[in-house]
Amino acid sequence: MKVFDLRCAHEHTFEGWFGSEDDYLSQQARGLVTCPVCGDAQIARMPSAPRLNLSGATMRAEGTPVSRPHDDTAPRDVAKAKSELQSLWMKAVRHVMANTEDVGSQFAEEARKIHYAEAPERNIRGTVSREESEALAEEGIDVMPLPIPDGFKDTLQ
Ligand SMILES: [Zn+2]
Repeated sequence: MKVFDLRCAHEHTFEGWFGSEDDYLSQQARGLVTCPVCGDAQIARMPSAPRLNLSGATMRAEGTPVSRPHDDTAPRDVAKAKSELQSLWMKAVRHVMANTEDVGSQFAEEARKIHYAEAPERNIRGTVSREESEALAEEGIDVMPLPIPDGFKDTLQ
């Protein structure tokens, strides 16, 4: 299973899960990869995604948006489900943003310090590359992806 950080033409960011890179390329070529926020099929891959360190957390964000192929048999239900998922997701994101410290690009370093008790234990969020996130996982440091749609951050400030 491959997880790609994706972005639509309207700059919504989300994750897509695929069996392989070829799967992703073939689905994208056929317009089957669509944005969970707006349904846009002009999808591009991104180099990195925001990551969360939730070690010691009692709260979990739920409802990760996952890209799915079009279901033409029930477009209304799909649209409704998408909007419900989006609203749940916004709630979770808002909660996480309010309860984590933004350490930006220092995320990997801070997560490591917290893990090795060199910094106070707390929930942090920030940006980390896939390589860094894999390195953290190898060290047994839990992080979870939190795709935050662009424009959403502004509404929180
Ligand atoms: Zn979109």
